[in-house]
Amino acid sequence: MAKNATAVDVTEGRFAPLNAAGDGPDGDLGRGHIDEPSVSLEQTTTVPLNFFVELLATFQASMKGIIEEIRKPPHDPIKEAQMKRAKDTKEQAEKFFWESLSNRAKNCTHGREDMTSAIAWAQQSDGKIRGACQHCQTLFSPVREECVSQEVFDRYAQVRRIPTQRGSGVLYINS
Ligand SMILES: [Zn+2]
Repeated sequence: MAKNATAVDVTEGRFAPLNAAGDGPDGDLGRGHIDEPSVSLEQTTTVPLNFFVELLATFQASMKGIIEEIRKPPHDPIKEAQMKRAKDTKEQAEKFFWESLSNRAKNCTHGREDMTSAIAWAQQSDGKIRGACQHCQTLFSPVREECVSQEVFDRYAQVRRIPTQRGSGVLYINS
């Protein structure tokens, strides 16, 4: 300040430089008229530009996020509906699957024309004897959960007694 004041004093135009620059209120700030205006002018053009570019980027980024947030709610119910539909379809398909297996078991005699059993029996590693009908593939098991229906489970003991070969063994005689 002191330096500047001296310079003005020398030219005897204490207020003249300030008035000429039109910097009345900013007189003190615009003291270094030669250097500062050019710098501040560049700053006023570059800084706000960068600022706006950044602001725009931030704005666009936040808008993107907002748009995504806006889009989310309609997406989730659709997804949920789709998942529910898929679940229902799967359950229906499973129900249909078990029903068809049950019906197939019901509609099969599990026997051949010569009255022998078409069920291929085998004792498995757990000691249980299970058999699959060679006509309808129904599994006969002493375990209820392994049978497609209560009916199949209930028939296990009965079909076990039916011989699988004509004139074969004690089972035929006993039945
Ligand atoms: Zn069968």
